[in-house]
Amino acid sequence: MPSLNLDPAGLPILAGLWHLDGATARHDAVAWGYAKGATQRGVELHQLTEVTGVDIEAGRVTGVQTNRGKVSCGCVVQAVSGLSAEVSRMAGFQLPIVAYPLQAMVTQPVKPFLDPHVSSSALHCYVHQTSRGEIVIGGGSDPYPLYGTRSTLELKEGLIASAVEMFPFMSEMRLMRQWAGITDMTSDYSPIMGLSPVENYYLDAGWGTWGFKATPICGVTMAEVVASGGKVPDLIAPFSLDRFDAFRQVNEMGATAASH
Ligand SMILES: Cc1cc2nc3c(=O)[nH]c(=O)nc-3n(C[C@H](O)[C@H](O)[C@H](O)COP(=O)(O)OP(=O)(O)OC[C@H]3O[C@@H](n4cnc5c(N)ncnc54)[C@H](O)[C@@H]3O)c2cc1C
Repeated sequence: MPSLNLDPAGLPILAGLWHLDGATARHDAVAWGYAKGATQRGVELHQLTEVTGVDIEAGRVTGVQTNRGKVSCGCVVQAVSGLSAEVSRMAGFQLPIVAYPLQAMVTQPVKPFLDPHVSSSALHCYVHQTSRGEIVIGGGSDPYPLYGTRSTLELKEGLIASAVEMFPFMSEMRLMRQWAGITDMTSDYSPIMGLSPVENYYLDAGWGTWGFKATPICGVTMAEVVASGGKVPDLIAPFSLDRFDAFRQVNEMGATAASH
C-alpha cells in the first residue's frame, strides 16, 4: 500500500492485519440480485409500500395495514432495520433497540490506486475505492440516538481529517456525497432473530452496523422459521428476544466495530 502514510496522526503503524480473502461487494447490486431471484421464484415485491399498522386477533397476526391497503397473511417477518422499534410498537410490543445514525461519504472518482479496504482502528476510519473510482470514507456511528438521516459537518470534518492522515494526497480531492442511514442497535450489539410475543410474527432485527453480508444466512434461517411454523433453527437460537429477560446476552461489540 505505497500511498499509505505510515505515521498517521503521530501514531506510527507498527503492525497490521491482512485479511487475504477479504473482499468488497456492491451492496445495491446485491439487493437487486436478491430481488430478481425472488421474483423469478414467484415472490411479489411491493415497493413504496409502508406498513402503517398490524392486525392481531387472539394473539395471532392476521394482516398488515399499508399506505396502499390491507394485506391479509398467515405470518409476518418484520425486517425493517432502523424502524424496528417503531414497527414492533404497531404489533403491540417493545424491542430493546435504539436507532443511531451511521454516516459515510464519497469523493470524486479518481484512477485506481487502492485495491484493498484500509481501516484504522486507532483513527476509527476506513477508506476504500469503488469500482467507479470514488473513495468511500466511513467510521463510527453518531454518538446519539436519532431517527434523522441528516449528514453533519462535525463528522465530515473528523472523518476527512483521519482519511487525510492515512492518505495525505486526498486533501486535494473533492467530496461528492455524504449521507446517513439509521442503524438498529441492541445493547449487546447482536441481532434479534426468531419469535416475538405475537404468534406467527417473526423478527429479524438489530443488524445495525453488522451489515448486508449476513443477509444470505438470515434468509435461510428465517425461511426455516416460517416454513416450520415457528421452529427456530439452532444456529439463530442464541439471538432470541427473550435473552434480554434471561440475561443471556451475546456480546459482539468487537465484531461490529467500524473497522470491520
Ligand atoms: C452509512 C452506512 C454504511 C454501512 N456500511 C456497511 C458495510 O460496509 N458493510 C456492511 O456489511 N454493512 C454496512 N452497513 C450496514 C448495513 O447497511 C445494514 O446492517 C443492513 O442494510 C441491514 O439489513 P436489513 O435487511 O436488516 O435492513 P435494511 O437493508 O435497512 O432494510 C430494511 C427495509 O425496511 C424498510 N422499512 C422500514 N420501515 C418500513 C415500514 N414501516 N414498512 C415497510 N418497509 C419498511 C426500509 O425501507 C428498508 O428497505 C452500513 C450502513 C450504513 C448506514
